[in-house]
Amino acid sequence: MPAKKKSAKLLRCPTCGMLVRLNDEDYPFCSDRCRKIDLGKWAMGVYKISSPILDPEVLEDLGELGGGRRDRDSDDD
Ligand SMILES: [Zn+2]
Repeated sequence: MPAKKKSAKLLRCPTCGMLVRLNDEDYPFCSDRCRKIDLGKWAMGVYKISSPILDPEVLEDLGELGGGRRDRDSDDD
């Protein structure tokens, strides 16, 4: 049975799916890292459209950003 809900809105982080509160500073992302990952995905889509060849340096950056998905908190539910 869920606890009493307050009016705080929750949204799932588009990057990792973690619950994010509306008043979180990185909303709608759970963290600055996830925000950057999402931006990276978006940028990658643009690169795909504008050029079929990805800059290896861009891939390297995205790889670094994508390596930190294990810091999710377990304080939801
Ligand atoms: Zn996240």
